[in-house]
Amino acid sequence: QPVATESGRIKMNYHDATKISSKERADLLKRPIINSSDIMSRVTPIINAVRERGDAAVLELTAKFDRVQLPTTVIKAPFSPECMQLDEKTKAAIDQAYDNIYKFHDAQMDRETLVVETMPGVVCSRFARPIEKVGLYVPGGTAVLPSSALMLGIPAKVAGCKQIVLATPPRPDGSIVPDVMYVAHKVGATHVVTAGGAQAVAAMAYGTETIPKVDKICGPGNQYVTAAKMLAQNDSSCLVSIDMPAGPSEVLVVADQNSNPAYVASDLLSQAEHGADSQVVLVAAGITDEKLAEIEEQIHVQASRLPRVDIVRQSIPKSYTLRVANLSEAMDFSNDYAPEHLILHIDNAEDAIPLVQNAGSVFVGAYSPESCGDYASGTNHTLPTYGYSRMYSGVNTLTFVKHITSQQLTADGLNRLGDTVMQLAEREGLEAHRNAVAIRVADLRK
Ligand code: NAD
Repeated sequence: QPVATESGRIKMNYHDATKISSKERADLLKRPIINSSDIMSRVTPIINAVRERGDAAVLELTAKFDRVQLPTTVIKAPFSPECMQLDEKTKAAIDQAYDNIYKFHDAQMDRETLVVETMPGVVCSRFARPIEKVGLYVPGGTAVLPSSALMLGIPAKVAGCKQIVLATPPRPDGSIVPDVMYVAHKVGATHVVTAGGAQAVAAMAYGTETIPKVDKICGPGNQYVTAAKMLAQNDSSCLVSIDMPAGPSEVLVVADQNSNPAYVASDLLSQAEHGADSQVVLVAAGITDEKLAEIEEQIHVQASRLPRVDIVRQSIPKSYTLRVANLSEAMDFSNDYAPEHLILHIDNAEDAIPLVQNAGSVFVGAYSPESCGDYASGTNHTLPTYGYSRMYSGVNTLTFVKHITSQQLTADGLNRLGDTVMQLAEREGLEAHRNAVAIRVADLRK
């Protein structure tokens, strides 16, 4: 196995699918193990403090972890124009992203009642209702993330959530980034909680004197945020749900012989700069040594120029290239890996979509960099990581909705279905169930 950073070179590890054992292949599919018990033991006292002492605990923990002394925990709408002042270029970019994301998420809204007559006189329906109170966590520890505010706030708004509480860590001066305040205003947030980490999640899960308790908490965040979401979800006393489990961000790029090495490298690096724990995988489908060398050269050259090169120096050596014989093998590996982001740098990329079984979001062809989906094309960037794209969808409008079913039977319908229900109730030994039908059917059959 090549040395990851020989003489300062920024280089991914390399594996040849024909030369690895099935155990090695299985290891490549694994993500780094998250040591959750250590994090849980740090997060539990934070949650308990917020539960027991509310706002006072939130303010103390903000002073401790974010090094800011604040007089209050929350900014209520309407937000002042001063706190959301932006230059025209940034405002226009947010507005454009907002419009595209809104358009795509509005189209996802389930506005029609589903009505099915399962047998004559037996009508079953299903309709959607918004989750009334939602908490949106917008990370802010190491970067300004208005894009996360857009990705969470827009579907909540489209769904019709009545109370949208957005939480994000304050800046060193105690203020919230104007970009996030502007988005909070646009999505109709009712409260902005000026706290981050586990304390913000706990405050939204349990409620404090000033922070409303919510029904569901969504959004990415670091391991403290994730642990707090999991703990709150498992505590039936606070009755809160979460969007999905979260791990470090990841991308899997499938590239073929005709792919553009500079584009491939740029996509790998756009993920690698997220954090030292980012997962970056290149699956090279039937490409020559020369082509692979060109991609590797581009990774080194482009990475060296990045302001976040120090992060990339940590994440790229933990990442790898897997060379496979053809597209079919590449897609098999990708489906087994179940990436958060899948980028297809292959000829006629759209033809490979039917082969995609597991992925959070797919970027199809040379001109669809992940960055577009991260910010502004319209799709959501809050996606399942860590292999959870096998069974979870990314955040979407229906994340903020629940479905209610209903049924209405006519007398004739009950007469037709009655014997079936009575028989099954009898088999289960539930006489009151049987009787609720029998008492009516007896009248109908007089
Ligand atoms: P963050 O907002 O998630 O966390 C910052 C908070 O962590 C602070 O406010 C503080 O309260 C708390 N904290 C810090 N050190 C602590 C400690 N020792 N003990 C207890 N609490 C502590 O911001 P971040 O740290 O920059 O992390 C952002 C994360 O979100 C990254 O992992 C990034 O990859 C992820 N992210 C993911 C997506 C996505 O869609 N998948 C999008 C954006 C960001």
